[in-house]
Amino acid sequence: MLLSTSPLRSLSRYFSPGLPWLAVAPILFRDSQVSRVGYWIGWTERLVLILFSEQMRDRKKIKRHRRGLGRRRRAKPELEAHYQSELVDYISANGHRLVVGDLSIHLAKEFGFCYGVDRAVEYAYETLKSFPERRVWLVGEIIHNPHVNEKMLEMGIQFLFGRYGDGLGYDAVSREDVVILPAFGLPMEDMERLHRVGCDLVDTTCGSVIMVWKNVQSYAQEGFTSVIHGKFYHEETMATASRATDSGGHYLILLDLEETMLVCDYIRGAGMDQESFLERFEMAVSPGFDPDAHLERLGLANQTTMLMSESLQVAEALRRAMVDRYGEKQTSERFRNFETICSATQERQDAILELLEQPLDIMLVIGGYNSSNTNNLAHIAGRKVTTYHIDSAKGILPDNVIDYKPVGAKDPVTKEGWLTSGPLRIGITAGASTPNNEIGAAILHILEALELQLPEEVAAPI
Ligand code: SF4
Repeated sequence: MLLSTSPLRSLSRYFSPGLPWLAVAPILFRDSQVSRVGYWIGWTERLVLILFSEQMRDRKKIKRHRRGLGRRRRAKPELEAHYQSELVDYISANGHRLVVGDLSIHLAKEFGFCYGVDRAVEYAYETLKSFPERRVWLVGEIIHNPHVNEKMLEMGIQFLFGRYGDGLGYDAVSREDVVILPAFGLPMEDMERLHRVGCDLVDTTCGSVIMVWKNVQSYAQEGFTSVIHGKFYHEETMATASRATDSGGHYLILLDLEETMLVCDYIRGAGMDQESFLERFEMAVSPGFDPDAHLERLGLANQTTMLMSESLQVAEALRRAMVDRYGEKQTSERFRNFETICSATQERQDAILELLEQPLDIMLVIGGYNSSNTNNLAHIAGRKVTTYHIDSAKGILPDNVIDYKPVGAKDPVTKEGWLTSGPLRIGITAGASTPNNEIGAAILHILEALELQLPEEVAAPI
């Protein structure tokens, strides 16, 4: 049984440097007495290697691809066909403005795919080119955009969790598979689970998310509780929070200013008691969190896609509460704040604020309904102008009908007659996970609804 072909196969796979020796041993020890020694050395080596082959297999180095897979050139044509838009390129190159008849379209200066999303999507395409014979999984949505996730499905990538999968979970993954980690990263326990499986990992975690993890880890190591401005149910925030506990620390996740003020009251010794506090923040604190002990030293971090203005308010409110409790001098020892909103989020928020300085009748925000940064763009626009948040170009229906999510609402609604006749100025932006072709298609649907045609020099495929 020891000499069956299967261990030999695994031997050749995990210990191939031993094979040349097995092949040449009988030749080297050809003559009589030496040949008997050679014979036994050969078989002893085989035996030892076979016995250890399973252990070698278990020690197989897990391949973690963080810098692409060297198939960028081969993936490029598909990426361009699936996500680019000549129309959007044209508008961007012409002052971010398109005028057709009475309609003027004003595109934000920064919109759509950010560097982290670009990289994550590209790695997924490269993975398929690199491992055509192997099963490729995504843990969940690679980014929060329906068009992109549907494309992944179409191309044969399967989902372990979430609405695009069959709820198979990690039990479905085998050592021979390839798993793509999303741009938001994975919690530590999930990483450990995948390491135990031993499959190949294509890690698309964005560098800006890893920066947040580093802050949170150093807070934990220095005895600070990480206060994360984010959504406790968001993949990125779950992954970040797990870095705090993994480094021996605690965390508290705050959604908004309202929740922050409750914590500020507690720090000042006012407001709710300990039990009510733990009940109120049950889902948003680390196991064993004790507000009396763990609010004494605070380190702030953000989910990278939060509203910058709110993050600043959260930080300032907590700092003031610490000053009230401990005084200015001690607060400098007890309070740390590193701004961890990513530059791509910041640029898109700045660009929409700039766009809103000009008179607009309508603002169209395009991006997944579960996309945090897209919702924040809609939130900014909604303060100033009538705003329609659609998750894809399909939201713009014929006969002047739109399916959209009102700002701050959970579910989409349908509205008729959203486009008015006469002069109409529409501002458009898109979240960091929205591809340009969705923006291009949305613009064409608007033109169709208004029975307008692109001038010939502009006419271009989506
Ligand atoms: S939004 Fe920011 S953190 Fe998220 S993937 Fe894009 S660049 Fe990275």
